[in-house]
Amino acid sequence: MSNIPTVGFISLGCPKALVDSEKILTQLRSEGYSISPNYQEADLVVVNTCGFIDAAVAESLDSIGEALAENGKVIVTGCLGAREAEIRARHPAVLKVTGAHALEAVIAAVHEHLPPLHDPFTSLVPPQGIKLTPKHYAYIKISEGCNHRCTFCIIPSMRGDLVSRPVAEVLYEAERLAQAGVKELLVVSQDTSAYGVDLGYVTQNWCGKPVKTRFFDLAAALAELGIWVRLHYVYPYPHVDEVIPLMAEGKILPYLDIPFQHASSRILRLMKRPAASENNLERIKAWRKVCPSITLRSTFIVGFPGETEQEFVGLLDFLTEAQLDRVGCFAYSPVKGATANGLPDPVPEAVKQERLARFMAHQADISAARLQQRVGRVETVLVDEVVAEGAVARSRADAPEIDGQVFIDGATHLNVGDWVQVEFEEADEHDLWAHLV
Ligand code: SF4
Repeated sequence: MSNIPTVGFISLGCPKALVDSEKILTQLRSEGYSISPNYQEADLVVVNTCGFIDAAVAESLDSIGEALAENGKVIVTGCLGAREAEIRARHPAVLKVTGAHALEAVIAAVHEHLPPLHDPFTSLVPPQGIKLTPKHYAYIKISEGCNHRCTFCIIPSMRGDLVSRPVAEVLYEAERLAQAGVKELLVVSQDTSAYGVDLGYVTQNWCGKPVKTRFFDLAAALAELGIWVRLHYVYPYPHVDEVIPLMAEGKILPYLDIPFQHASSRILRLMKRPAASENNLERIKAWRKVCPSITLRSTFIVGFPGETEQEFVGLLDFLTEAQLDRVGCFAYSPVKGATANGLPDPVPEAVKQERLARFMAHQADISAARLQQRVGRVETVLVDEVVAEGAVARSRADAPEIDGQVFIDGATHLNVGDWVQVEFEEADEHDLWAHLV
C-alpha cells in the first residue's frame, strides 16, 4: 500500500445509485484519496448498496461480506443502508452504515476511519467529476426521492420525499459534461416529470437567461447543448405533452421511458400509481401524431394482488393497441415493508409466472415488428464500442444497458463516441444490423 490513503469502491444498483457513487468518488478524489479497483490495495472499502428487490438485497449483503473477508474495513452506504439492523445482524464488523444519497455521512465516515492527506491533490479531479459510465455518455440526476407512495415500492421510505436540484446547478453540470466530450445525457430521477414541484418551479439564471426549475424548461435548456438528451422515469401527466414537440424538432431524443406498470385503472389505483386516471392510450396516440418517430419504453408488473384473468387480458389488449417499442415486465414479488403486501387476493406464483410468460411472448412479437419497420431507414447512431468484428452502436431509440444495439460489421476504424450515419439492414426482436452510408 502507498502513503496515499486508498479507498476501494463497489457500486451496486440503479443509475440513481451510480450517480451517488460518482459524487462520492469525486469528493474523495478531490480530497486526495486514491481509488483502487481491488481490495488488496485499498485501506478500506465503501459498498454502495441497493435494496430495491430481495435479489438486490442478497447481492448487496454478499458484496459486503466479500469486502469484509478480502479487506476487513467496510463502510456501507446506499438504499440498503436504511435497514442497518439487518446489515449488522449479518455483518457486525462493518465500520459504518449510512443511507442513500448521504454524501456527507459517507465522507465523514471515511475521514473517521481513514483520514485524508493534509494537502489534497485537487488537480487530480477533472472538472466534470469522476464518471463510472464510459466517457461518451453520462447519467445526470435531477432530483432525489419521490412524493408518490406506490404501494409496491419502498423507495420513498428509503430516500424521502422529492428534493429537486435547482435548474442552474443541473445545467452547469450538464454543460461541463458536454465540454468534457459527453455525447449523450441520460436524465434520471425517481419521477422526472415532477421535477421542480418542491421548489415551486423557482426561476434561476443560466447563461444570462431566466430558466424555471421545471420539466419542460429543463428539457428545452438541455436541448441547447447540442448533444443527445434522453428522458427516463417520466409519468404520463398532461404536462409531459409539452416536450413532445421538442422531440419532433430533433432537439431532444424522441424517446420516453415511461413506466406504466399496468393498464387496468383498478389495479393502477391499488398500486397508487401517479397519473393513474389518465387515458394512456389516447395520450400515446396524441404523442405519435406530433412525433411519429417517438420510441416508447415502459415496464409492467403482472400478478399484482387481486389481478384477475380479465384484467390481465386487458393488459395484453393495451399492449396490442399501444404498440410500445421496448418493454420490461416483472412478476409481482412482495418487497419487505411495502404496503401492497397487505392487499387481499395474492395471485398464486404459478399463475404469476404463466402471465409473465404470456406477456413476454405477446410483447416480443410487437417489439420485433416495430424494429422490422426500421429496416431500410437511414439514421444517426452513437458508437459505444469497437471490437474485432466491427462497431457496436446505439440508435436514438436505444438507451444504454436496457435497450438494443446496432451492429456495424467491419467498421473497425470508428471511435467510441462517434456519431455516424447508417442504413439498417436487418433486425431481430432487440437489435439491428447496419452498414455505414
Ligand atoms: S413513483 Fe412510485 S415506484 Fe417510483 S419511486 Fe415513487 S413511489 Fe416508488
